[in-house]
Amino acid sequence: KVLCTVGILAGLLAFFWRDTFNPDSISGARVLLTGASTGIGEQMAYHYSKFGAEIVLTARRETLLRKVMEKCLQLGAKKVFYIPDDMSSPQAPERVVQFALQKLGGLDHLVLNHIGSTPFRMWEGDVEHTRWLLQVNFLSYVALASAALPILAESKGSLIVVSSLTGKVSTPFTTSYSATKFALDGFFGSLRHELAMQKQDVCITLCILGLINTEVALEKTRDKVYLSAYPADEAALAIIQGGATRAREVFYPWWLELVCRLRDWFPDQRDVVIQSFYNYTST
Ligand code: NDP
Repeated sequence: KVLCTVGILAGLLAFFWRDTFNPDSISGARVLLTGASTGIGEQMAYHYSKFGAEIVLTARRETLLRKVMEKCLQLGAKKVFYIPDDMSSPQAPERVVQFALQKLGGLDHLVLNHIGSTPFRMWEGDVEHTRWLLQVNFLSYVALASAALPILAESKGSLIVVSSLTGKVSTPFTTSYSATKFALDGFFGSLRHELAMQKQDVCITLCILGLINTEVALEKTRDKVYLSAYPADEAALAIIQGGATRAREVFYPWWLELVCRLRDWFPDQRDVVIQSFYNYTST
């Protein structure tokens, strides 16, 4: 009982006692942002630009990256470059980090945000797809982080990892995707310990997002999920603020933190509530 009360009090203290965000801390910051051509990544590119950052954007589609770059320059980015690459290639992470170093001369924030396309439906046994998705959503994050860590250690920088509620609490129709997001929590949680033990001042921020109104997410979940989608530009800002204030975790919307904290206390009731948000008949 005592331990439980102390735990709740510590959680409440941490919840209210957060660093306040100072936009000046991002002015001139050197940022490498993945998955920057659409969705939340595109919105992050625009926020970083308004705060005066120097940015390298990456994703596969060059035409979209060029458009995002042009808008970033209009919005006030100090410098913007882009490099089209495919994170299913094991060589891509090293190429992209080297490009960013060459263009920016260092790195303050590495934002890992891209995801490979995956169906939103019941598991049908496609192990090969899971293998590919692990490469794009997980192994490329590990490789990007490994290539950038020595540089982030020099700048006392931030490693920002975009995850999902589905990377903390299991949900239906997301088997492979969920596995890749749980893997991020395990890997980067362990790495956070090791950095602290080695007294390396690199902060790791894991961002847990709910349903966000990006084109792809809305299209996939239509008629299948009874949840409101939250705005992508707000999600993007929450991620950037969390990284800049060196938060351990970011929850957007905020109430996901309660869901995550309670997840292990009432597992049966939790699963019934989760299933009630999904339409089983339309998949
Ligand atoms: P989008 O599908 O809109 O964007 C995905 C980005 O990844 C695009 O820029 C895409 O560009 C890029 N990408 C896709 N495949 C590859 C690849 N093989 N190599 C390199 N880049 C690739 O996703 P969201 O904006 O919705 O999601 C962003 C993050 O937020 C993800 O980590 C996701 O898990 C997380 N999230 C999103 C939620 C939502 O409801 N939207 C909910 C919870 C978490 P291109 O096709 O040009 O390569």
